[in-house]
Amino acid sequence: MQPFVYNGLPSRVIFGAGSLAQLGREIELLGATRALVLSTPQQRAQAEALAGQLGERAAGLFAEAVMHVPVETARQARVFATEVGADCAIAIGGGSTTGLGKAIALETSLPIIAIPTTYAGSEMTPIYGLTEGDVKKTGRDLRVLPRTVIYDPALTTSLPPALSLTSGINAIAHAAEGLYAQDANPIVSLMAEEGIRALGNGLPLVMDEPGNLAARADCLYGAWLCGAVLGSVGMALHHKLCHTLGGTFNLPHAETHTIVLPHVLAYNREAAPEAMKRIARALRADDAAQGAFDLAQDYGAPTALKDIGLTATELDVALNLALKNPYWNPRPVEPAPLRALLEAAFEGRRPT
Ligand code: NAD
Repeated sequence: MQPFVYNGLPSRVIFGAGSLAQLGREIELLGATRALVLSTPQQRAQAEALAGQLGERAAGLFAEAVMHVPVETARQARVFATEVGADCAIAIGGGSTTGLGKAIALETSLPIIAIPTTYAGSEMTPIYGLTEGDVKKTGRDLRVLPRTVIYDPALTTSLPPALSLTSGINAIAHAAEGLYAQDANPIVSLMAEEGIRALGNGLPLVMDEPGNLAARADCLYGAWLCGAVLGSVGMALHHKLCHTLGGTFNLPHAETHTIVLPHVLAYNREAAPEAMKRIARALRADDAAQGAFDLAQDYGAPTALKDIGLTATELDVALNLALKNPYWNPRPVEPAPLRALLEAAFEGRRPT
């Protein structure tokens, strides 16, 4: 075995259907008494119910979380947290809501309890993002890592099937790139393969029956593991492309990951054979790239960038941006093959 470095991240995880009922005890364990509840406007009703469950321990509700954490929203949330005297924040929702919690924690060190309701995985990472104008800046800081994460699969049955699928493939992308990361290690790779396996198993069942709690539990377990991979090791070409496409052209986050992943796996196929073998095995497919493509296509996820709002002219802009400050990648990132990759993703061709 090659020598390696493994960094464990300190978070406490409560997993299981009905585990939301343990929230009060978890607040107490943090030594907190006044919780600020965070959500998107779309999940306000769910957040209100949560605040109701907390009674006097709820300091207030801020239901203004939006995608990519605009600095102004983060500032308003911090001001509100101070006004209501919050000593912890509870983020119930997907990556956008967790991201808002992180933005608060970055400046105030307020402990965050995350209650994820998508498969994005942000709750397991010390990575934060903040958007000013058109520019999204990301960074790493242990202060933003949620102290406690409550994974309650019952909260995910309301996630629409289409979003469940793309969000799940977004999670698979973290694990796939973790398997060929420059700083990959055997422990994180175990989590990565198991995370892909759990999602590969659960997602088709969820698509057939969104209320299937056992399948939802599989998916959420997989999302946890994939998120932990994202938090532990470096990402490569796939994440660079998705950040570029999402940030510059405002493409939807999970759909962009879903479309791009098979093509990056095809790009890296020969350079990372062991990772590809493990991804294919976890997806029960003959080939990693085709397995990822088929999972999306078979259940009706978008497979072409041109179908989610990218234009052919923007493809050139994306190419040039992606070539600037590229992330480390197992296969060198070069203009001609990258252009072919982007064209295949633009058209939605099945990788050969
Ligand atoms: P999201 O949080 O924007 O959620 C999408 C929509 O689905 C929202 O309207 C939300 O309220 C709704 N929703 C969420 N759960 C639901 C449920 N169970 N039932 C019904 N509706 C529900 O989407 P996302 O994909 O989870 O997160 C994307 C954002 O997270 C992006 O900004 C991305 O950059 C960020 N992200 C960050 C990290 C990190 O480590 N920092 C990791 C992954 C994603």
